[in-house]
Amino acid sequence: MALQIELDQQNQVIDANQRFMDEVTASRAVRQHKIQELNRRLENLEQCKICYENYDDTDHQQLAVNPCGHFMCKKCCNIMITKPIPKCWCQEKMSRLMRVYA
Ligand SMILES: [Zn+2]
Ligand SMILES: [Zn+2]
Repeated sequence: MALQIELDQQNQVIDANQRFMDEVTASRAVRQHKIQELNRRLENLEQCKICYENYDDTDHQQLAVNPCGHFMCKKCCNIMITKPIPKCWCQEKMSRLMRVYA
């Protein structure tokens, strides 16, 4: 009988450890997911959402669209502003373009 109690206790300890390990694994997965998400956002900040070119200081200079505040490159802006109703990629009308300074 004493042996049975001891076995039950050991099983409880094993179960608790297993639950703890599951939690650690889960939180690690959540953290990894967050890091991936942040990296993806960082990439989005570095490249134009329309042509997917990286921003630079020449043709693909980064410009901020007003009033929505999104970014796009100069080349894509030049295409957009020739349209009858210039719109950002979010479909909001463009009223002004602003240079972005790091
Ligand atoms: Zn572009
Ligand atoms: Zn926009």
